[in-house]
Amino acid sequence: MKTENLPKWNLADLYDGVESREYTALKQELIELTDRFAEEARNGSLRNTYPAGWLQGCLELYNRLGDSYEELDAFVSMWYTTSTTDQAALAELNSLEELGLGVQAAEVSFKNSVAEIADRLPEIFKAKPALAEYRFFLEEQLFFQQHQMSEKEESLAADLMRSGGNAWGRLFQAVSSTAAAEWEELGGNTTGRRDEPSEPGLVGAGGKKTVTELRGMAFDPDRSVRHKAWLKELEAVEQVEIPLAAAMNGVKGSTVSLSRRRGYEGVLEKSVQQARISRATLDALIGVMEESLPVFREYLSGKARLLGLERLSFYDIFAPVTAQASSKLRGEGADYAASMPERWSYSAARDFILTHFRSFSAELADFAASAFEKGWIDAQPRAGKVGGAYCITLPLTGETRVMCNFSGNFGDVKTIAHELGHAYHHHVLRDAPHIFRQYPMTLAETASIFAESVVIDGALQAAEPQEKLPIVEKLLQDSTQVIVDILSRFKFERAVLERREQGELSPEELKRLMLEAQTATYGDALNPDELHPYMWAVKPHYYSPELAFYNFPYAFGQLFGLGLYNRYVQEGSAFLPVYRDVLLSTGKGSAVEVTRAAGFDIESPEFWRSGIAAIKERVDEFLKLLPGT
Ligand SMILES: [Zn+2]
Repeated sequence: MKTENLPKWNLADLYDGVESREYTALKQELIELTDRFAEEARNGSLRNTYPAGWLQGCLELYNRLGDSYEELDAFVSMWYTTSTTDQAALAELNSLEELGLGVQAAEVSFKNSVAEIADRLPEIFKAKPALAEYRFFLEEQLFFQQHQMSEKEESLAADLMRSGGNAWGRLFQAVSSTAAAEWEELGGNTTGRRDEPSEPGLVGAGGKKTVTELRGMAFDPDRSVRHKAWLKELEAVEQVEIPLAAAMNGVKGSTVSLSRRRGYEGVLEKSVQQARISRATLDALIGVMEESLPVFREYLSGKARLLGLERLSFYDIFAPVTAQASSKLRGEGADYAASMPERWSYSAARDFILTHFRSFSAELADFAASAFEKGWIDAQPRAGKVGGAYCITLPLTGETRVMCNFSGNFGDVKTIAHELGHAYHHHVLRDAPHIFRQYPMTLAETASIFAESVVIDGALQAAEPQEKLPIVEKLLQDSTQVIVDILSRFKFERAVLERREQGELSPEELKRLMLEAQTATYGDALNPDELHPYMWAVKPHYYSPELAFYNFPYAFGQLFGLGLYNRYVQEGSAFLPVYRDVLLSTGKGSAVEVTRAAGFDIESPEFWRSGIAAIKERVDEFLKLLPGT
């Protein structure tokens, strides 16, 4: 597809570069706010004599400081991710990182001061009722204060993180993004699938292919291409397994040492707190994920039948199912009246999204329409721009931007709807102070999954029977990642952290633990001789020292988003205000409290089972749509 007409951000509308008067003034303001907050956070005399006034002053400063930092960081991140080779962008990111150290140090002092007045909080809330809204935030500060080293130790740890834990994370990025294997084109014209030679990453006349390019080939309709790409990927990673294992050991070593020094029972205790859930919630979620595995294995066996295989191999998980192919298999001939395009133009995608958003809520549709109109979406793939998609907010400018790489698949339409869901979440929270806009990872995907569901449901309703199979299959492909693969990652990470307490792990041990985790989750649905022992070398989520177990929040988000969407299906427009209230409160309490207000009990397995039941319905539908059934 032609991509040059796709929209690109205009960054100069925001700030005319980092040398501009507006940008430098804001950066200067951030520095001053940080200094004032640091001073105020320690101000013992004020804290002891007039705690309510002290606390109010600190929170005001912290909110302003947070907004300034978020604004600057968003602008520079947008710039860097759309021009990664620009050294100036990278330098500015580093400069902001440096300013972040000052903020972190001030936060440590603030927590210590809050701990000093902890038993006076009830009287403070009485004197200034507006501060009672910060109850959860302050309790969270107190929890982390109990797991905080001395101010000097924390400052040293933050400083060393740049050359220690985070440096290992950067080594992982550098090594994994350049690892490559020699690629010779397969002989013979297998399926005539090369009708779009402009597709990036899929075609090349030999030469080296990076691991990212090879992973992209997992979506190729030709099994021999997928098989070869999988072999080549394993070969490419094997060559760099030593530095990658070193990076894993370095990151997990930092995590384990800091966790122990800060007095956590284990690494998971901190992750549960960061996710703002309870241990009971995590246990209920993981337990239901475990018991749901047979549902997904049934889908995977069905997919194997659809592809004419006895069993899937790891490289078949992402094999595409097209309407064309499924209608052929069903003996309906290759020609059918399509109600949905196989390739989407950007304007068709926009219209489709807006139509289905409007069927849910006018507010969501109006917001999304204005995002399209104002050019808040950067959709054009181009050299130097990162892959994937994200949504980012500039709180002071009052804009929320979306970055994606539009190539004309239905998956891209879904991605834009997903990111606009995030953007709408920010929009609902736009007038809230900084602290109340900081929601946990577990609730971060609520609005995006919901928006995505609105569009997918619309697509399913609009689809002709033979078009349904690919859509349902893609949905199940995604759910399998979010439940089955995420569970394998959770098990793997837990095992690695346990071992890491005793010492470093060799690449062989890491491979063995990964295979064990995949066998325990995918079970007999995958060929045991063709799994993926190096998945730990291709997923960046393992390499963040301060954010361990960056996996279960995805499963939480998907199942919670589905739970909300089911409520909407049952209750119709009466659910709209409930939904809006959930989004408004995501930054104000624990996930347990926020979801309880909407009538959900996430500590009970029953709640999670209802999300799985929705997926099970899709699996049944998928199996029914299969040819010969
Ligand atoms: Zn998302």
